[in-house]
Amino acid sequence: MSRPTLTRAQQRKRSMSRLTWARRGSQFFFAAFVLWAAVRHQLENESGTAASVDALCPFGAVETFITWITTGTFITKIHGSNLILGLALLIATLLVGNAFCGWICPFGALQDALTWVRNKLGLKARHLPPAWDAGLRWGRYVVLGVILYFSVTTATLWFADYDPYVTLFGLHWLFEWSDALWVGLGITAVVLAASVVIDRFWCRYLCPLGAVFAVLGHLSLLRIKRVEATCTDCTLCDRPCPVGITVSKANPWSTPTASGAWTAWPPARSRAR
Ligand code: SF4
Repeated sequence: MSRPTLTRAQQRKRSMSRLTWARRGSQFFFAAFVLWAAVRHQLENESGTAASVDALCPFGAVETFITWITTGTFITKIHGSNLILGLALLIATLLVGNAFCGWICPFGALQDALTWVRNKLGLKARHLPPAWDAGLRWGRYVVLGVILYFSVTTATLWFADYDPYVTLFGLHWLFEWSDALWVGLGITAVVLAASVVIDRFWCRYLCPLGAVFAVLGHLSLLRIKRVEATCTDCTLCDRPCPVGITVSKANPWSTPTASGAWTAWPPARSRAR
């Protein structure tokens, strides 16, 4: 019996589903890798050969950048590895856009997992009114500004004690408990609880690295762009976005061709259904 021929929309839906599973596999891999590195670091603490979660975080490059430029030194707990990771991520983001948040970041993966659990329980996501949502998204820049200020003035990894990612994936709460962890654990608990109700709460409203990506994303060579002339408003493109970006409502963007003329990208032909 021959298979029924799928429509273009069905084919696109199927390929999106495959992409989603590939993305989940990648997220799981990197989350498992970071947890493995954290366990190794905690167990080999004495020898000091295993990298910590701090050393594996590209945001460390952002935190130490001003101090490094002005004094030639790093803030505490920051290594050359942070700068290498940060530079690699910068180049990758400028070339192909922000794949880190969707494919690599363990804290993004954890929030996606909470969304998955909520959906399995049949609970509905909450959405803030658009004006609130738009206003609160500036919170990422405020958090970034505060972190940069205190990182420079204290020359320490000031944010580490409050960072939900470091708190959770660093595994200090499991291997070397101290009362100082209560603050980080409290913030983490609030963030995760909010992420159950609102998809990727931390990414949307508070993540300082997300603020950096939001700026860099505007400079990326490879970006998804909507071509108004061929868009059928099916809104399929909105559904995979975990942070609620309404791609279907985006204004058409243009990009220069080799000849210098401005044209819609990608070409309309590639978006025709
Ligand atoms: S916004 Fe921040 S927490 Fe969310 S996926 Fe990106 S880097 Fe990770």
